[in-house]
Amino acid sequence: MASETETFAFQAEINQLLSLIINTFYSNKEIFLRELISNSSDALDKIRFESLTDKSKLDSQPELFIHIVPDKASSSLTIVDSGIGMTKADLVNNLGTIARSGTKEFMEALAAGADVSMIGQFGVGFYSAYLVAERVIVTTKHNDDEQYIWESQAGGSFTVTKDTGELLGRGTKITLFLKEDQLEYLEERRLKDLVKKHSEFISYPISLWSEKTTEKEVEEDDEEEEKKEEGEKEEEEEGVVEEINEEKEASDKKKKKVKEVSHEWSLVNKQKPIWMRKPEDITKDEYSSFYKSLTNDWEEHLAVKHFSVEGQLEFKAVLFVPKRAPFDLFDTRKKLNNIKLYVRRVFIMDNCEELIPEYLGFIKGVVDSEDLPLNISRETLQQNKVLKVIRKNLVKKCLELFAEIAENKEDFDKFYEAFGKNIKLGIHEDSSNRAKLADLLRYHSTKSGDELTSLKDYVTRMKDGQTDIYYITGESKKAVENSPFLERLKKKGYEVLFLVDAIDEYAVGQLKEYDGKKLVSATKEGLKLDESEDEKKKKEEKKAAFESLCKVIKDILGDRVEKVMVSDRIVDSPCCLVTGEYGWTANMERIMKAQALRDSSMSSYMSSKKTMEINPDNSIMEELRKRAEADKNDKSVKDLILLLHETALLTSGFSLDDPNTFGSRIHRMLKLGLSIDDDTSTTADADADIPPLEEGADAEGSNMEEVD
Ligand code: ADP
Repeated sequence: MASETETFAFQAEINQLLSLIINTFYSNKEIFLRELISNSSDALDKIRFESLTDKSKLDSQPELFIHIVPDKASSSLTIVDSGIGMTKADLVNNLGTIARSGTKEFMEALAAGADVSMIGQFGVGFYSAYLVAERVIVTTKHNDDEQYIWESQAGGSFTVTKDTGELLGRGTKITLFLKEDQLEYLEERRLKDLVKKHSEFISYPISLWSEKTTEKEVEEDDEEEEKKEEGEKEEEEEGVVEEINEEKEASDKKKKKVKEVSHEWSLVNKQKPIWMRKPEDITKDEYSSFYKSLTNDWEEHLAVKHFSVEGQLEFKAVLFVPKRAPFDLFDTRKKLNNIKLYVRRVFIMDNCEELIPEYLGFIKGVVDSEDLPLNISRETLQQNKVLKVIRKNLVKKCLELFAEIAENKEDFDKFYEAFGKNIKLGIHEDSSNRAKLADLLRYHSTKSGDELTSLKDYVTRMKDGQTDIYYITGESKKAVENSPFLERLKKKGYEVLFLVDAIDEYAVGQLKEYDGKKLVSATKEGLKLDESEDEKKKKEEKKAAFESLCKVIKDILGDRVEKVMVSDRIVDSPCCLVTGEYGWTANMERIMKAQALRDSSMSSYMSSKKTMEINPDNSIMEELRKRAEADKNDKSVKDLILLLHETALLTSGFSLDDPNTFGSRIHRMLKLGLSIDDDTSTTADADADIPPLEEGADAEGSNMEEVD
């Protein structure tokens, strides 16, 4: 008795997608099989996962399999799985009425030239069936519902009917009625090759319903019957026909050899899971196709590490480094983790966060443990000791893998460009592996030219007597390479590293030293350059000579600076502003200001301590000293010092709180330089606030400190 058939309209976007799939020419149609097998594999994963906590869920069909059945007579290809199946509601929702977010995106991607083979990544893989089929029937049975049939020839609608026919037990059967020009997908050879190419690493047995021809001896009397059975087949196999005919002529009672065609299941994905095989038996191509099937990446991997750990704890793993960083590598909303966890060959979960630290979130691969319980849940994973040990080992192996990549410069350049930030994040987070990670760091420096240098190479270039590794942080290479802070270091021939990534500030703050050598910031207090007795003596003299100017400057600048002293590090510039050894650098202040949600109470004490260092050899300073000594209250001294302070803020990498006042001060200087008599400008209100730069300033100038 036929059941009631309900008709549903495809959701508009899905309908659009279907027409696109049907009417656009794509040569790469074969991917439909990979998509359907991948859906079957997911459905099998789901029922297996449910059965870990409730064994009876498998009772409806204890075996987990995928079957592929080509049928030339009806030009149909059927894929059957014993997965979780779909309820009637699932059928209606999943296959037609609720559009995935990926539907529209996939169509846009196609319009922009993406390949149809990317369909799986957009979560609409099922519809790829219509690349090759004109009609599709899905029969499905879920443990919680009756068996239903979904059917559609696209064209805007599909039907759902309760199935009263042969029961599946549990799972899904998808029958594709192939388009006339797609009959190649009924050929065994083609199907076998396809499974091998795209679905080799599916962890459930995939069997193909195959024809098998055997030779059999028969009495001549049976001949007529045999001939009928063989049908068209015989005509193709001319040899057999001839043989039979010859024998027929020769003698009636003789036995004859005939070929018999039967069907049987043949297992297509015979390979053991790749991680269970010996690394030396696996080719690069096999790794790369495994990597692609694991990640949906269209490019092959950059590097791979395949290993097993034995002893108190046993597991096997294959880890890959991709060639590129995903576009959302540091999207904090999306926890990246690409390691699949298996327990004794049973898939347990994707994205197991506990397996690998965040900074290695770009590593892809599989881990198969012998020790974890099968029914482990995300909750119990967190406290699991076995998992902690696995994690430690994975990190160790990743670092080995990176060191191997570093042996090839070209590969390492690619790696560092894609994942250098992760390494720096690792230095910040992973104290136990900091030293190893530090070996992987690369920076531009005052001596590296266009190349990057490692800390190790830096150390080999260190000058006699140089004990520290110098660095400067800033916004870009350009912004730091001519910084006044580097003057003295350059003059002494000391190399300075340019740390121009925001994350460098954090990483270097944790690293502190490399190979026993302290990492010293060129812009912070505590920069001590060794000097000869002669130099020391000269410096002491200078210090003494400039002591009073330092005091005058401090008085004028007030709270703007912590202290004022004679500098060690500048050679040409008149002065610079350094920060406390443990406070923020100018660059860090910039980074923190850029963070919208920062805690402003922190910035007040971290960024407050600036020391002004003055250059006693600079002619401006010398002139200021003379003037200050002649008259402590010389107005021009005060104005010049304020201007010097503001310029030093800029050249030292800070920003100005009030750029307008600074601008006006400069304009006054320009007028002075151009000998413009500015008496007329006193009418402008704005100018009234601006301190004059001429000697014998008027009373307005004394308001300046409040103005700032
Ligand atoms: P995706 O598999 O990426 O989610 P698809 O368009 O391929 O997208 O499939 C849509 C949904 O239909 C799946 O998420 C799944 O719920 C259901 N489905 C498809 N094939 C099967 C199957 N063989 N067994 C059970 N459910 C399936």
